[in-house]
Amino acid sequence: MNKTYKLYFIPGSQDLYGEACLKQVAADCQEMVRFLNDKLQDVVTVELLPTVETSKICVENMKRVMNDDDCVGVITWMHTFSPAKMWIKGLRRLGKPLLHLHTQANEKLPYGSIDMDFINLNQAAHGDREYGYILARLGIPHEVVAGFYKHERVIAKIRQFAQVAKAISDSQNMRIATFGNNMRDVAVTDGNRLSCEIQYGWEVKYWGIGEIAALAEQATDSQIHEKMQEYESKYTMATDRLDAVREQAKYEVALERFMEENEISAFTDTFQDLFGLRQLPGLAVQNLMDKGIGFGPEGDYKISAFSAVLMKMAEGRNGATGFIEDYTYDLTEGQELELASHMLEVPPSFAAAKPEIQVCPLGIGGKEDPARLVFDGITGQGIQVTLVDMGGHFRIICADIELVKQPEPMPNLPVARIMYRHKPNFAIGTAAWCYAGGAHHSVASTALTRADIAMFARLTGTELITIGDDTTEADLQKFFTK
Ligand code: MN
Repeated sequence: MNKTYKLYFIPGSQDLYGEACLKQVAADCQEMVRFLNDKLQDVVTVELLPTVETSKICVENMKRVMNDDDCVGVITWMHTFSPAKMWIKGLRRLGKPLLHLHTQANEKLPYGSIDMDFINLNQAAHGDREYGYILARLGIPHEVVAGFYKHERVIAKIRQFAQVAKAISDSQNMRIATFGNNMRDVAVTDGNRLSCEIQYGWEVKYWGIGEIAALAEQATDSQIHEKMQEYESKYTMATDRLDAVREQAKYEVALERFMEENEISAFTDTFQDLFGLRQLPGLAVQNLMDKGIGFGPEGDYKISAFSAVLMKMAEGRNGATGFIEDYTYDLTEGQELELASHMLEVPPSFAAAKPEIQVCPLGIGGKEDPARLVFDGITGQGIQVTLVDMGGHFRIICADIELVKQPEPMPNLPVARIMYRHKPNFAIGTAAWCYAGGAHHSVASTALTRADIAMFARLTGTELITIGDDTTEADLQKFFTK
């Protein structure tokens, strides 16, 4: 969590303009980097690399980018013209997110004093087009941000890029543990693990749940006691069946130890394979998700990893981000709502008030009654986003939603209860999701926006389908044939 994240800033020029011009380029870039560091210090640090004047300098810069584990991405900008053949060999070494900042050192044109020296020095309109061509020609995924670098809109876009780049960096180093396999016969949670690792870096590794059962038995009284105190400090203990809660405490102690020893940041389990466990992990999983650990039920390794990536992207922002599951509707005409819930595992970051710990029967899986967190969901604007394997490629589907208060209490449903309204309306929004092949497992967020997801999709080369107020009935067939 205390890791330092860094963006390198690489300006472009050439050696035709003489020493004085290059000195001014360097000085202007130092000023820009100082300004960006000041504005982005809560997210990332920015470090200036030598101005690219030759292909050799560009290659050296990109080697440094790729060898620096703290570096999550690169900002490039052409202060002067910078013939783009010089960038080919360097760019081909770059395997990290790239931001093409289309800006200038000066905001306004000095109409009264402008001369040839000025336009030789300040020609991003010229140089950035040459550079844009080579990025397009090489097919390198990147983000273009255009505007004066001190404008709030531009800073906000660079900040967003830094957050997405951090999430991609985490993604590229992510190890996911699957305890058991996919739920038998389920299609959408399955897919190509090898393709996931190639495209997103996710190392999906199988272990038997017996590993956790064995570690749970090794949990000491003091570890269990400490975990129970953590639960009591965060949640309301609304049960007297403390032995059942302690069972979940043992699972969490075991899972934390396992994840630390194996450098795991996301995991799955399945209620069909709980060999050696007395309960389905509920409270244990919910409390781990609250700490940024990714989770997918029923062996859903894609959503497990994707939720961890999106929680990373949302770090430092207000709002909740985490796994949800579509369950059932209120189809009152014109006021349709969805109840998103799960058997147990909904992250408490979505709780509108302090969650209660309850112990209740599960009705599936044939195990003992599991302890779980029960709460009503927060309200506000948000997104629901999922990732599916289409065979030849991955597809992200991102829908704008509005989380709402439940119209009436549901006293007999002892799980998390999140309700939301689809956009542009129920008929189009849910039909679009179905046409697009959207899963019933997804990640909801009131911290992230469609624009964040779109940037992630562009930078990882993933197909993106969006659903929102701009979606029309005429779009629906397009989603299917895409
Ligand atoms: Mn499910």
